[in-house]
Amino acid sequence: MSVGTIEAIENRSRAGILAVRWAGGSEHAFTHAELRAACPCSGCRALRRAGGTVQASAEVRLTVIEPAGSNALNLGFSDGHARGIYPFALLAELAGVHS
Ligand SMILES: [Zn+2]
Repeated sequence: MSVGTIEAIENRSRAGILAVRWAGGSEHAFTHAELRAACPCSGCRALRRAGGTVQASAEVRLTVIEPAGSNALNLGFSDGHARGIYPFALLAELAGVHS
């Protein structure tokens, strides 16, 4: 079976939480900061490859949440970083959901 499809998302901006419901009914709450730190854009990937860490303030908030195709989300953040396309498979991996 392939990794989970996201059925619903709920953004709790004040708390800095993005709650996701997977197909099948289980849920996971991501903090906005952990999503920012996991940004998969080419710049952040290059930084990690070089041994760096993507910095994410605990205060950072999601400002953009848009579908990117049928199996990914485009997420933008209050620090101005909005280049990450987050495949559902990446979110499942972050959430510890195993296929
Ligand atoms: Zn990035």
